[in-house]
Amino acid sequence: MAQLPLPGRSGPISQLSQLSDGAAYAIGDLPEAPARVLRALAGAGHEAVLVGGCLRDLLLGARPDDWDVATAALPATVSALFPGSWWENRFGTVTVPGAQPVQVTTYRSESGYADRRRPDEVTFHGSLRDDLARRDFTINAVAWLPEAPGGGTSGRLVDPFDGLVDLRDGVIRAVGDPAARFAEDALRVLRGVRFALRFGFRIEAVTEAALADAAPATAGLSAERVRDELLRLLADPGIRPTVAFARWEALGLLATLLPELAALRGIPQGKPLPGDALDHTLRTAEALPASDPILRMAGLLHDVGKATTFADGHFYGHEVEGAHTAEAVMRRLRFGAQDVARVRELIRHHMFAYEPAWTDAAVRRFIRRVGHERLGDLFALREADDAGSGAVEPPAGGLPELRARIAEQENAPLAHGHLAVDGHDLQRVLDVPPGPGLGRLLDRLMEEVVDDPSLNRREMLLRRAGEILAER
Ligand code: ATP
Ligand code: MG
Repeated sequence: MAQLPLPGRSGPISQLSQLSDGAAYAIGDLPEAPARVLRALAGAGHEAVLVGGCLRDLLLGARPDDWDVATAALPATVSALFPGSWWENRFGTVTVPGAQPVQVTTYRSESGYADRRRPDEVTFHGSLRDDLARRDFTINAVAWLPEAPGGGTSGRLVDPFDGLVDLRDGVIRAVGDPAARFAEDALRVLRGVRFALRFGFRIEAVTEAALADAAPATAGLSAERVRDELLRLLADPGIRPTVAFARWEALGLLATLLPELAALRGIPQGKPLPGDALDHTLRTAEALPASDPILRMAGLLHDVGKATTFADGHFYGHEVEGAHTAEAVMRRLRFGAQDVARVRELIRHHMFAYEPAWTDAAVRRFIRRVGHERLGDLFALREADDAGSGAVEPPAGGLPELRARIAEQENAPLAHGHLAVDGHDLQRVLDVPPGPGLGRLLDRLMEEVVDDPSLNRREMLLRRAGEILAER
């Protein structure tokens, strides 16, 4: 998502004051992908509009990265028009693939949300107005209808809920009765907060009151939807985690969705920067790049162990406890196994305490313990942790020094693949049967070579392997 020209609100926003329902509006630089979809549908005689987030972002002067088209044509008709498109049955969303995929939805109205997640019934006989009415916020409920079926840049805005006024004034307002809309789908609570943060908009009073009332209902959302919202929040370069999660906390969303984080409120820090463990945690997440939301998750969760280890006054073992808790949180939210492992390991190792007295062997053991591929992440987390606590790395023995010493070990044997013998050698020469015993033997040799790389010679290692086997 391109950075918006906010909050100065110069540029495109000023033209918003001239726009309202039915106004002519030209989109000069509409990319070919959505333009082609609109053209093809109109050419086949079906009304088709640009709608939702992409139009909102265009009106704000930003470049959208996902494109939504709504049309009167039924899903089967749409998918027949675009070879290679696929169709998600229940909601009739047709995805037209490409470098810029376009999602085409048939005008619909929805009714009944017994599970508070998904409508019980989707009707495809709606009009454009019905389709806009089922959308969440007024700024997301504006459409653009191209004028000429042959294409071209001119068109008209369709804005039955005054989304353009709210876009101009910077207001998040639910379409229709806010309480009813949040009761239908509690994800809108999270979306509303995210849009307010992202655009620096205020939430209209009735919407805000309903949003606070509906916050506990987010407990019933599917884990996948909460995860995706959380990732969108963390991945947005325009949203500051310190501000975002303070808002979540004030609304009760933090206690509902991430109680492990909420528990850090009031846990003292004893760090140069003021505040408690939650303040520190949020600053740490904020110091990590939005382009890597999983790393930001590690920042968010790196001290969760402090809530439970506080009793001893020293947080002993909080990195071990925290790694377990973080894993449980991320599994609950259905994060992928690799992301869970990445965060767990980073938290597990984040308390390393380098000193200049470390021998080269100690540096090599550290690399092996953490895993070469995770060192970059771990340093980034430590830097963010420092930034979040106001700590200054010492000139000697600090991170830069450790980094330099790790670089010195670039050619050191640190993985089984670097050993001068492999499993086959050991099987052939020493008759070691394949299996876990062989793995343990290689590990043992590896440890010795990490301690003393001069041992990494074939004859020497075979002799050592023989001695180790004789000990067993
Ligand atoms: P983003 O920029 O984060 O993608 P978006 O508004 O485009 O924001 P999408 O999830 O891409 O969000 O949804 C596209 C459009 O579909 C929205 O603008 C809105 O009109 C509608 N929409 C999405 N989710 C909901 C929902 N939970 N309830 C009602 N309408 C929704
Ligand atoms: Mg979108």
